[in-house]
Amino acid sequence: MESTKDFRVAIVGGGMCGIACAVGLAAKGIRADVFEAAPAFGAVGAGVGLGPNAIRALEGLGVLEAVMGKSDTKEPTLRSFIFVSGPGQHEVIYDYSKYFGQYGLGIYRPAFLEALLPLLDPRHLHLNKKCTLVTSLASGSYKLHFEDGSTHETELVIGADGVKSNIRRSLVGNSPSNNLVFANTVAYRGLVPHSTLVKAGITTNVNGMPLCWMGRDKHIITFPLSGTDKINVVLFASNYSQPMSPPREGPWVENVPRSEMATTYEDMGGDAKIIIGHLDGTSKWYIHSVNPLLTSYVSGRIVLVGDAAHAMQPHLGAGVGQGFEDVYVLFRLLAHPSTQRSNLDASSTQTTLSVYDKLRPRRANMVLEASARAGRIFDGFGKPGCDAEWARRELAGIWEPVWNHDLKQEVDEELTKLDKKHTANL
Ligand SMILES: Cc1cc2nc3c(=O)[nH]c(=O)nc-3n(C[C@H](O)[C@H](O)[C@H](O)COP(=O)(O)OP(=O)(O)OC[C@H]3O[C@@H](n4cnc5c(N)ncnc54)[C@H](O)[C@@H]3O)c2cc1C
Repeated sequence: MESTKDFRVAIVGGGMCGIACAVGLAAKGIRADVFEAAPAFGAVGAGVGLGPNAIRALEGLGVLEAVMGKSDTKEPTLRSFIFVSGPGQHEVIYDYSKYFGQYGLGIYRPAFLEALLPLLDPRHLHLNKKCTLVTSLASGSYKLHFEDGSTHETELVIGADGVKSNIRRSLVGNSPSNNLVFANTVAYRGLVPHSTLVKAGITTNVNGMPLCWMGRDKHIITFPLSGTDKINVVLFASNYSQPMSPPREGPWVENVPRSEMATTYEDMGGDAKIIIGHLDGTSKWYIHSVNPLLTSYVSGRIVLVGDAAHAMQPHLGAGVGQGFEDVYVLFRLLAHPSTQRSNLDASSTQTTLSVYDKLRPRRANMVLEASARAGRIFDGFGKPGCDAEWARRELAGIWEPVWNHDLKQEVDEELTKLDKKHTANL
């Protein structure tokens, strides 16, 4: 099908944000070529939780139904946490769901991609294409350079290439860190059969609502994987005694033995230790985030979405949700009938990409900072002055700004302004 626009679109990165973007645009007749570095889509898998704002963004993109078909549950479920004390008897500190019950989804990354990839024309999906550089051409187009020596020309580059983004370099220049820091936080991820925990004598109900076990410089997240006997476990450990470090040079994900966790979590209570003692193979993730924050996600006609723009700590489960919001805003702006090559560029105000840049860094950076703060709260329990009362105060409404935001209205208002401008220019 011929594209409805007079510009070509290249999406670098075929993760959840890149593919959601390609599908949304394709449904509006805007063809995009997707370039993915890996030899297959969804090669790296992990589960993510999507809050109500992420659900609305997917709905706006027209992909929610397809995604729901592959989610952990066939309809949105209550998505909030019961906070319990990590040490001691695991008393309930705060039941977030009682106050702010909201609906969302859990989905496995490869399942998300499996749901959406069939909606795309395979002729425009390119694997083994690691983009190393973007250069500008005299024609005003861009040239993407790939590791295998090939190139591709386009007028709009969407950088959806994740936390280690090469496209970010087009915005931040030769910053040696690529505006990334290691957050001095690691996350151990593993699974454990619920029946095994019961046999081992666990008394905390880990098979109902997600739990956050709060500790000192550490916390544990547990939730059941719907339709299975498995409990998903993510154990965070942070070092707050030093400033954030430069990005790690070794691998950011590695397999580690269970014994590595035993010392870190030795001050946790009995049920937490039962969980740790029965985890299947565990991987250790070094958590990186964008820092310093990007004040702009756009340069010319190069635009960042998802982790490429705002990789954040995962404590509010909000990273990919912000990516879906980026993609929804970009999709609405690009799909607008008056959007053409001449009014894409962000160099003047009230153009497509300048509107994107007006809306997205402000909100996604706010969520990035709120996520870091949430980590400090979850890891604060038991520090001087940080008792259950303190925790309840700090936790109240913590997800509200993330979940309750009327993105559609925000975009509608901006499109009305763009319409007025275009009418005035006729
Ligand atoms: C422990 C942990 C738990 C998390 N939990 C949640 C959660 O519950 N909820 C939530 O919303 N978020 C969560 N996140 C964050 C979430 O995983 C990310 O925000 C999300 O995966 C970002 O999607 P993306 O498409 O922007 O990037 P990615 O998923 O990283 O995809 C980028 C793609 O680009 C490809 N690529 C990279 N470089 C290049 C290149 N140069 N050229 C071509 N292709 C390239 C990669 O191979 C990859 O396929 C969590 C993160 C972690 C680490």
